[in-house]
Parts: sequence; structure tokens; C-alpha cells
Amino acid sequence: MKYTKHVSAKKTSQKEAILGREDEMVKNNAGGMGFEVDDFTKLDRFLVLGSEGGTYYASERKQTKDAAKAVTRCLKQDGVRTVQRIVEISEGGRAPKNDPALFALALAISLGDPATRAAAGANLSRVARTGTHLFQFVNMVNDLRGWGRGLKRAVGEWYTEKPLEKIGYQVVKYRSREGMSHRDVLRMAHPKSASHNALFRYLIGGTPEARAVAGKKKSLEDVRLYGPVSETGLPEIVYQYEEMAKADSLAKVLNYIGRYPNLPWETIPTEFLKEASVWEALAANLPYTALIRNLGRMTANGALGPLSAVSKTVIAKLSNGEALRKARVHPIAVLAAMLTYQQGHGTKGSLTWKPVQKVVDALDDAFYAAFGNVEPTGKNLLLALDVSGSMGWGNIAAIPGLTPAMGAAAMALVTSRVEPNTHIFGFADTFRELKIQGKATLNTVMAATSHINFGGTDCSLPMLYAMKKKMDVDGFIVYTDNETWAGDIHPTQALKQYRQERGIEAREVVVGMTATDFTIADPKDRGQLDVVGFDTATPNLISGFVKGEF
Ligand code: CA
Repeated sequence: MKYTKHVSAKKTSQKEAILGREDEMVKNNAGGMGFEVDDFTKLDRFLVLGSEGGTYYASERKQTKDAAKAVTRCLKQDGVRTVQRIVEISEGGRAPKNDPALFALALAISLGDPATRAAAGANLSRVARTGTHLFQFVNMVNDLRGWGRGLKRAVGEWYTEKPLEKIGYQVVKYRSREGMSHRDVLRMAHPKSASHNALFRYLIGGTPEARAVAGKKKSLEDVRLYGPVSETGLPEIVYQYEEMAKADSLAKVLNYIGRYPNLPWETIPTEFLKEASVWEALAANLPYTALIRNLGRMTANGALGPLSAVSKTVIAKLSNGEALRKARVHPIAVLAAMLTYQQGHGTKGSLTWKPVQKVVDALDDAFYAAFGNVEPTGKNLLLALDVSGSMGWGNIAAIPGLTPAMGAAAMALVTSRVEPNTHIFGFADTFRELKIQGKATLNTVMAATSHINFGGTDCSLPMLYAMKKKMDVDGFIVYTDNETWAGDIHPTQALKQYRQERGIEAREVVVGMTATDFTIADPKDRGQLDVVGFDTATPNLISGFVKGEF
């Protein structure tokens, strides 16, 4: 009887725990055994990847509940550290969406100990940077807790700690969103400040929206709060906004755009937004988010055509990497804009346009630029994309048509573009050669990785492939949802075998593409690292780790 034929610590079916490590391994959603990531890694994954739409294996509800539990455990373990991490990822523009950070901060201010709640309150403006963020946050805390003094102070300071012109800009740009207006928030938080009270009076009774809501029955409560509306002490931008809101001709709108360059485009009466001349006048001062979201509209109405002044402005702005990063434009937002723009029609509505190729090219470049400078390692890297069935399901950051597999391919391109020695390889439960070697563009990888997602998952294949092909690999970069189950050897065992057979101390970076609780990265092996897909910091983490910097 050869006992080790059945039981070995060197080669274990992925459906079973590795011999002697039963306590460290847990069953993943696909029925395989993996390592559970720690709660702070779960926090990072949630902050960057969110839980919207769920995954192939877990519903949105389950994903969100699990994430909330992990955040709560982090808050218990070290609430102040948790708040710092939320601020770091949100303020650094590292996540495609700010919603998870706002939710985690709402949990901190609701469930944390006094020090944590104070830290969350003091950092509200760094996470809720726009009026829309503030409305989202207030809606979330309303669902989680009541209004105590600490929360009132934190929300009040969101208004009072900004200089008058700056808060004026926020309140005319984001007047009401998420079923909420500043009037609603002011009534809950009751901030007071000698310099800002005139603005608060105006917001409670003065905006056209507030007037429409209040009608003639302006409540006594409002008057008691800030006194009657006065016309003095308001920031200049409020008068500009009132003029724009009353504009009844194109000539007036164009006049105000020219005269008031700081006035946000959202203040323009909707009926004029179909005019090409309006967008021609706006383009130069348009913030990035508005710019990349309105490319289709500007092309449809004729403002953005080949060789047009607007196209030159747009291309120049998209080519300015430093400005892109300063504006916290996330690469995934650029990728989403490109996917929509080049298809020539919106996902909702009937708008159609003929895409300008130079703009598509500029978006392709902007995608990489938005990651910042990535340091090449010069090492031999195998970029292994999980293209199994589960990777073709669900949408990243709720972007229609952008699957984890396509996102993984885009992330792999960021590395392959700067690295001289890479090979891109696909796997499910068998090897899959991908037609994306050499000078691949986002379009070619999107095409090569959509609609090919089928089969089970075996995350040991990158190492087995390199062994079989006798490849010298310094770094395995595996892009996966970590739901491995189909192999007869665990990925960490396959890596050890690879190192022994080739005599190379190869390192492995696991790029997690969904916010699950599992990883294939062995926490006991210092040569394996778990990072989060779509984190703008990930490409440099990969190169630093492969170079052995940590
Ligand atoms: Ca899978």
C-alpha cells in the first residue's frame, strides 16, 4: 500500500485542503478550497471593486452583506485605521466608484466607537467631495442611524469649512440629487456660520427648486432657522446661476458661458444642451467627468467632428496625463467612455453618432495615462488571464458590457505595455492561447476576451503551463476571481514545484477581480501577493513586488 498516493502535502486536489493546513483553508463559492483573505484586504477589495450587481456565484445582496460584515469587523479591530484606509483609497482616486467608500464611512460614523466616529466625521469632506457625494452619504446614514450632535456637526462643517465661493460652486452644481436637496440636509444638520448664513437662508427658501417645493407655504421652522431670505452676503456664483437659470435665448446662454467661466455646465437650462454652439463654448472649461461622458452628445450635435476645434480641445485634454490624474479620472471611467463612444450610440436613449477615430485613439492613450507612470521591472512576466465561465458574468463598476474577464485583460495591457518581456496567456480548466500578443490595443483585447468565457477554473495552470513550455518566469501575474476548484494540485503547490523544477524563485501576484473573501495567494509564502484589480495603485504594486522591493 502506497499511502502517499492518496495523501500528499505536495499535490492536493483543489476540492480538498492541503494536508496540515486544514485550519487555514476555507471553501470558496465554487466548492474549491482557498485561503481566506484578512478583513483589511476584504475592506480594500470592497472599496475598489464594490458589490454592485454581485458576481457569478454570489448575489448583490450577499456580496453587500458580507462586505458590510467585514467592514464592521475592521471597525471593531481598529476603527481609526479603517477610516484612514477609506480616506486613502477614496481621496487617491484609486477606485472606479466612490459609493463603497461613502458606505464604509457611513458605517464608521454609525457603528464605530467614539474615536472612530470622530475620525469619520472629521474626514467627511475628504470622502464626500461633491454635493452628490454628500447627498449619498446622508441617505446612507439616514438608513443606519439617527441624527446626534456628532453627525450634525460633521455634516454642518461640510458646508461651513469651505470658503463661501467654493461652497457656492458645489450648491449650484449639485442642487438636488438622490431625491435630496441642500434644503433637506440643512434642515437636518442646522449649521450656522456668520459668513455662510445668507447662503443657507437662500438655499432653504431661495433656489427655484426650493421655491417650487416650498410653494407659498414656507414653513415657520425655516424662518426660525436662518431668518428671512436676504439678497446680501451671497457668493457671486449664486447671482450668476440665477441669471443663467432665467436665460430664455441661445444668445443669452452663450453670453453667460463666456462671462462666467466658473459656472458649471449643469446650470444651463436643459433645452439649450442640444445646441452645438453651447458645447463649442463649454468644451475648454468642461471638467473631465463631464467631458468624457458627453463625447457622444457633442459628436451627435455636430460640435465634435473631425478637425473641429472641439476635437482638438478634447484630444489635448485627454493627452494631458498629469491633469487626468489630478482630476482623479479613473482608468475604468475612460474605458467605459471608450466602449460607449466607439459603438456610436448610447446604452439608453436614441442618440446616435459617428465616432471620431482620433478621439477613440486619445481615449485609448488616456486609459494608460490615468494609471500614472508604471515602473518596468525588465523581468520575465507571465500574465495569466482567467477566462473561465465566471469571469464572463457581471459588470465591473456597473458598466454595461464590461466583464471581469475584459477588465482583467485591460489591466494586463497596462503591464505588458511598459514591460519588455511579457507573455499573455489564458486559462480556464485548460490552457487557452489568446490572440493578443505584440502590440495589442484595448479594442483587440476586449474582442479577444469577450464571449470566450466558458469552462471550469484551475488557477494552477499558469505554473503548469510554464513548466510544460520550459519557460523562465520571474513573475506570474494571475488575474482571477479566485474561485478555483477544477485542478488536482493547488496553485501554491504548483508554484513550489515550478520553483524547484526551473530553479527560479518565481514570485506570484494574484490580481483579484471580484470582491470575494478568498484568494489563491498563500499567506505563508512571502513570494505571493494579493492585490486588487482596478486599483490605480496595482500596476506599480505588481512591479515593486516582482522586483523584490517588498
Ligand atoms: Ca471560474
